[in-house]
Amino acid sequence: MPTIFEEAGEMRNAYEVEYGNLKVGPHEFDFQLDKVFFDRSEESILKNGNINVLLHLERTETHLTLKFSLKGVVECQCDICLSDLEYPIDAEEILQAKITDSFGEEEPDLIYLSTREHKIDVYQHLYDYVHLALPMKVVCEDSVNRSECDKSVLERLNNDSNKEPEANPEWEKLKDLFKQ
Ligand SMILES: [Zn+2]
Repeated sequence: MPTIFEEAGEMRNAYEVEYGNLKVGPHEFDFQLDKVFFDRSEESILKNGNINVLLHLERTETHLTLKFSLKGVVECQCDICLSDLEYPIDAEEILQAKITDSFGEEEPDLIYLSTREHKIDVYQHLYDYVHLALPMKVVCEDSVNRSECDKSVLERLNNDSNKEPEANPEWEKLKDLFKQ
């Protein structure tokens, strides 16, 4: 049986970086983005994956520079033939954080941290980085597990686009009803 202490540990946010006690200089953290990570957002088009994130954090008294390297795969579908894919993710992103109580305008790669804070939640940043790493069009030949699109699906798509759209039988029935 888990103790209360262990349960509290599980509830701790796994994507938080405690910088409050860090000395000035370089530090390293790592994160594993797996099903737990992808399940957290209901809006995500991605439902699973396995990505290693190495965070290189450089601290000064008033500033943090966070360099993220993401390497791994996400599970998704081919935009052409709908085959299940493991798509490679390989991205480098930099986030700047100013530790100050005079906040300025936030930018995509610049945030402000109050001097009273001591940790930063990087979940949303990691979420954005993974989604930004996906191209507009995900296709089999760029994936890890497939070299080309499913030929039978391609043939079917070709045939369908050459055919005239068929009359919808439900719609025909409705039209008959209105005629009466
Ligand atoms: Zn495909």
